[in-house]
Amino acid sequence: MQCPFLKEATVRYCGIAPVRKLVPRDSIHEDDQRCTTPDYQRCPTAQAHLTGHDGLTECPFLQESLVQYCAAAEVTKFIPCNDSVLSRCNGDNHRHCPLYLQRAHPRHQRSAHDGCLAAPAGRQPAGQIDDDTGEIPTPDSLAFAPSHMWIDVGENGCCDVGIDALLARVLGRVDSIRFVSPQGHGRPRATISIDDLDLPLAFPLRLEITSANALLRVRPETIVSDPYGAGWLFAGQVPCHDGPKSDVASVAGLLQGEAARQWMRTECDRLARFVHDLQAQRCDRGEILMSDGGEISNDLWKHLDREERLLLFDRFFAEPNE
Ligand code: SF4
Repeated sequence: MQCPFLKEATVRYCGIAPVRKLVPRDSIHEDDQRCTTPDYQRCPTAQAHLTGHDGLTECPFLQESLVQYCAAAEVTKFIPCNDSVLSRCNGDNHRHCPLYLQRAHPRHQRSAHDGCLAAPAGRQPAGQIDDDTGEIPTPDSLAFAPSHMWIDVGENGCCDVGIDALLARVLGRVDSIRFVSPQGHGRPRATISIDDLDLPLAFPLRLEITSANALLRVRPETIVSDPYGAGWLFAGQVPCHDGPKSDVASVAGLLQGEAARQWMRTECDRLARFVHDLQAQRCDRGEILMSDGGEISNDLWKHLDREERLLLFDRFFAEPNE
């Protein structure tokens, strides 16, 4: 399904002008038109090319074409309908576009100060905790890997890959993100840097990777503030995809729907036990690793030392040994 903010327009332009200016056909008043009347013969640009083209009812250099544009963008930019830059807008991947999220889902609000995607004051970052259940959310449209990464596969096989809300909540913040996988066939891999540690992320399924999320290069914090929305890592295409999206999850051994919810609850319990064990080992220092009586704190990372962080990442988020 294409983005509801993707619109089409017919534009006109002068085919011989040194600068191509696209003007929506609907916005041109007929009284202003020289190009569509015999008056075109008085146009200086046309006169230089008119040999053999006089006596027509409209200018032979007037061109018309169909374009698309984003109605959510502040500045309208017309793009030819077949341009690959619109592949996200034309398919299900639009669900992770920052502009779409801001306009379609009010909880994705733009900070008035720095322009980043941020949660409303006093609330959890978008997507880290389900407001109704208080649990780590696992949206039904996503399929989850054991390394706490997700994939969202559209009807045409286009897909996005990112990290889940548990990993986002544990980290709390990141310093930078490096995309390891180049475009082309391969497994999506990236490295998250936080507090002088480089944490490798790897998605288990091979994809045709088409792009990395450029927003994360300038605003890496988006991966933890909006892990299921604008914080996606890679976009791509599932190879040989021609069936329902649930087929992809079952073939790759990923979890979806109720199975994913059960798995996430088990992971949260396992993480709570892990942190309690750490706390027991450090009881002589009396440091507090949990908040709110046992729920996983969204600043857990900062309470751990380097060795504990590495152990935590290895136990829960590292790529399983093949
Ligand atoms: S840029 Fe985003 S909001 Fe605009 S049409 Fe494309 S997907 Fe939709």
